[in-house]
Amino acid sequence: LIEKMPLKPNVGIWQTLLSVCRMHGDVEMGKQVGEILLRREGNNPANYVMVSNMYAHAGYWKESEKIRETLKRKGLKKEAGRSWVEMDKEIHIFYNGDGMHPLIEEIHEVLKEMEKRVKEEMGYVHSINFSLHDVEEESKMESLRVHSEKLAIGLVLVRRGLKLKGERVIRIFKNLRVCGDCHAFIKGLSKVLKIVFVVRDANRFHRFENGLCSCGDYW
Ligand code: ZN
Ligand code: ZN
Repeated sequence: LIEKMPLKPNVGIWQTLLSVCRMHGDVEMGKQVGEILLRREGNNPANYVMVSNMYAHAGYWKESEKIRETLKRKGLKKEAGRSWVEMDKEIHIFYNGDGMHPLIEEIHEVLKEMEKRVKEEMGYVHSINFSLHDVEEESKMESLRVHSEKLAIGLVLVRRGLKLKGERVIRIFKNLRVCGDCHAFIKGLSKVLKIVFVVRDANRFHRFENGLCSCGDYW
């Protein structure tokens, strides 16, 4: 399908196919797609991380490790993850693990509370696997909790309250792809709070509503 498209497939399309290969454990196709990606855009660390994760999820540890070593050898560094949200004509930017915002304690508190509710009502648990989406070693639960998109959502909830009087759509922007853990969390949150979240990440728009996302979990 991709090869027959009237448009030349961009990197995002190959990345999406690679991500689907990971989900289905299709290493054979994943390997081919990975080669195309690394040929097309060999200086983008995200591609190496995606290929490495595809192998790791299928249990091909040696291959996964090899890709990571190439990434290191090339000295490529991932752009720092950041998310932003506009509130009252002001843009608030958060980085992963950001502790700078004046409301950061309240943000952590509301996120913990939401995590508990989503867990109780939706059975959400941190999926550590997905922390592999990132180049940095973010394998711990603590670091998943402070992903920038969660912090941005936390700020809106702190400032507007859980009822969000009036507007019931929250729009968040992220420079990288949203990770699987945040994706699962935001899905749950959309159901628990009856709020629509629209998250535009590096790849696409995600519209979270009533416990589901418009991407159908493919991104
Ligand atoms: Zn995340
Ligand atoms: Zn989605």
